[in-house]
Amino acid sequence: MSTSNRQTISYLNRRFRQVGLEPNKRHGQNFLIDLNLVRMIADTGDIQPCDAILEIGTGTGSLTAMMAEKAGFIVTVEIDEHLHQLAKEELEPFRNVWMLRQDALKNKNNLSPTVLAPIREWVQGAPGRGFKLVANLPYNVATPIISNLLMLEDPPTLISVTIQKELGERMMAVPSTKDYSALSVWVQALCDVSIVRVLPPTVFWPAPKVDSAIMRIQPIPEKRAAIANLAFFHTFTRSLFFHRRKFLRSVIISAFKEKLNKPQVDAVLAELPFYHSNSRAEELSVAQIQELSERFRLAVKQ
Ligand code: SAM
Repeated sequence: MSTSNRQTISYLNRRFRQVGLEPNKRHGQNFLIDLNLVRMIADTGDIQPCDAILEIGTGTGSLTAMMAEKAGFIVTVEIDEHLHQLAKEELEPFRNVWMLRQDALKNKNNLSPTVLAPIREWVQGAPGRGFKLVANLPYNVATPIISNLLMLEDPPTLISVTIQKELGERMMAVPSTKDYSALSVWVQALCDVSIVRVLPPTVFWPAPKVDSAIMRIQPIPEKRAAIANLAFFHTFTRSLFFHRRKFLRSVIISAFKEKLNKPQVDAVLAELPFYHSNSRAEELSVAQIQELSERFRLAVKQ
């Protein structure tokens, strides 16, 4: 059966009933039923033969099959045994698709190493290869997946994903808005990010309660090179926004209480032209937070 017939409401309904399945909310099982939009996710990924694609959430395999015609290699991961079996039928003909039946995350903060290992092996097999994340992501794990991939030494060259619109807006948020968060700073410090298309609930089965968005998240090597210690910057940013309404000085004093005394914190802050006694993290630009992080990294010698 062609991909277009396999991703309609009636097909999904019938197939799920045949195998006694109900879409599982906990696993974010909302399937895209508009093939043009499935294609738009793949097109945003600009998939080339030198690309390995990581797809998290195989579902019934319709996006996977579309991408397999263009990509050099695909690793597609599905947590649900029944869906994994269903997708096997669809993906059988493709020699370049590696299917994994597992949780893509090892724990809340780390991707499973078995997901990345086959990607790395393929990428290292010839010069000029890279990897991209292209997926209709399960919403409950979208943030850890994207944050973790950006933390890697060898991050993806591009991320083209469907996520909750609200999460996409948080990634793009500017200072002094309610959406501006550690995630905004983290993503914008490393990538160019844009919303390609907003998707209403009606293009999914079953329909979720909220809007979604196809996002293009482009990691920029120069941005990454400007951050001396990614892990430090990540932890520092998260601690700044943990108490976002508190004054910056007291947040920093408490974050570094084991390592710096108050006069030492004040000495670092005094050197920063944008700092004033009423400063709060949520008002600082991404560049200012980077500078702040770097000054404190040097002060604690990490
Ligand atoms: N790619 C399909 C599509 O576009 O219609 C399905 C996308 S659906 C939004 C997300 C899929 O991710 C579901 O099939 C779900 O079972 C799977 N999933 C949820 N959590 C997962 C996890 N932690 N690891 C791997 N797959 C997961």
